[in-house]
Amino acid sequence: MPELPELEVTRERLAQALTGLRIKTATLHHAFVLRSVDPPFDSLVGNAFRAFDRRGKHLLFRTDPDTVMAVHLMLGGRLRLRPAEKFKPHRKRTLLSLAFEDGSLLEMTEAGTQRRASVLLFRGALPEHIDRGCEPLDDDFTEARFAELLARGNHQIKTALRDPSLLSGIGNAYSDEILHAARLSPVKLTSRLTDEEIARLYHALRDSLLDWIERIRQACPPGLPASQDLWRRDMAVHGRPGQPCPACGDTIQRISFSGSETHYCPTCQNEGRLLADRRMSRFGIRRRERAPE
Ligand SMILES: [Zn+2]
Repeated sequence: MPELPELEVTRERLAQALTGLRIKTATLHHAFVLRSVDPPFDSLVGNAFRAFDRRGKHLLFRTDPDTVMAVHLMLGGRLRLRPAEKFKPHRKRTLLSLAFEDGSLLEMTEAGTQRRASVLLFRGALPEHIDRGCEPLDDDFTEARFAELLARGNHQIKTALRDPSLLSGIGNAYSDEILHAARLSPVKLTSRLTDEEIARLYHALRDSLLDWIERIRQACPPGLPASQDLWRRDMAVHGRPGQPCPACGDTIQRISFSGSETHYCPTCQNEGRLLADRRMSRFGIRRRERAPE
């Protein structure tokens, strides 16, 4: 799933390509993608997007005067820019398309059959479910604010970082990277964090996100970021079980965690000890990934 860094670069590229262009046609290829009734989707025609914002994992396309199209790509959704004259919608994957006065076209697709990507059209203030967590890169997101958020509950840090009611835009991949940069165990409880560890986590969070935004800008050719594989291959621990940690050389491990896999370095993040894998721990098993021979 695209997370804050990918979405931030997507937002920038959309703004560069589409700001101020009049929308010629607005087509819903699969009506279920639109999760709102008023204003109607075809009211976009004749308008132009004046600004492109992001809240968490929602991209916000703003028209005059105050209509907003909020796009959530979920797991399989993608946005693509292409020439309108060559556009052929895919019977299953193409969800909507917008054609612009300069001959360009924005296509939203979704791979798979789950149908979870969504579009919401509304006027005025953001609906509550979009505007829940703190934006970790906003100026008012201070270390004190972060400490206050963590103190609201007592969760494993990995869970807290991914909780959209606390923090916006962070998912499984970047939480692994942030925790590795902060040298903290994903399962440590937030109530057990010292002030020094909270400070370390705060700076790792902001520095990692800013660093990845810049890396994605560099890695992606002009246009919208398409494949996450391109830059996620350069991650330190996420998606690299069995490979050496770039910081210490220890073998990166994985555990199952809330329905997904968490990757970590035992030496950098847990004093060299393996974490119990909940799938296995009732048998008292701690699997160790082996480095390839
Ligand atoms: Zn390490």
